[in-house]
Amino acid sequence: MTEQQAITNFLKYTGQQAIAPQAALVDCDGVLYDSMKNHTRAWVKLMQKNGIRCTRDEFYLYEGMTGTEIIKMKFKQGAGKNITDDEALALYGVKTRYFHELGEMPMMTGATAVLTALKELGLKRIVVTGSQQATILDRIDNDYPGLFDGRITGFDVHRGKPSPEPYMKGAMQAGCKPGQCLVIENAPLGVQSGHAAGCFTIGVTTGPIPEKDLYKAGADIVYPSMQALAEVLPQLLAAMQAKG
Ligand code: CA
Repeated sequence: MTEQQAITNFLKYTGQQAIAPQAALVDCDGVLYDSMKNHTRAWVKLMQKNGIRCTRDEFYLYEGMTGTEIIKMKFKQGAGKNITDDEALALYGVKTRYFHELGEMPMMTGATAVLTALKELGLKRIVVTGSQQATILDRIDNDYPGLFDGRITGFDVHRGKPSPEPYMKGAMQAGCKPGQCLVIENAPLGVQSGHAAGCFTIGVTTGPIPEKDLYKAGADIVYPSMQALAEVLPQLLAAMQAKG
């Protein structure tokens, strides 16, 4: 898929005349941080301690749902238990502790370059994450200083990804229409959310999920890394503006 093809397809299926991007809505885990390996380890530990069978790989597929949504779903499926919001939040606290015990999460290579390029190109930047971990949210401010204008977290939405709600709220916070936003995502449910919201959705394959699965979820274009996206961004945006 070339940039031109991706833009032409997007304009065709949305019926928009132009994209004229105003904002980028950027996922956190697997995009800003190389954190998914430790998240999946922490999830498996939580499930095993509670006698719920699971595999590590399945948690890559749930990525984007809020933590409490994942817990409710797994306890229902794996143990036939309906758990309350409070119980789910308490269990999420335990999972967060396991996650922290695994050590610091590295910043994703190329993420600063992507955000800097977006800023220089005049787009607003909003983090849109299902995370409800205060420590991660604080770290974004420290690790990416001055590079974000706002954030939507798991606390701000009724329904997490793949619902379009997180990215629709992100567009609202940026003060523009979803069709004027780029979404940057690494997970199929996150891509589905961005696509369903009506945003131009860019996939990055930073984990084990192959490119074709991100296209299947509705990605308009997919790059192999944040570094690769940073390199092509000026040309992608120029191609969007030329169509306008
Ligand atoms: Ca993610």
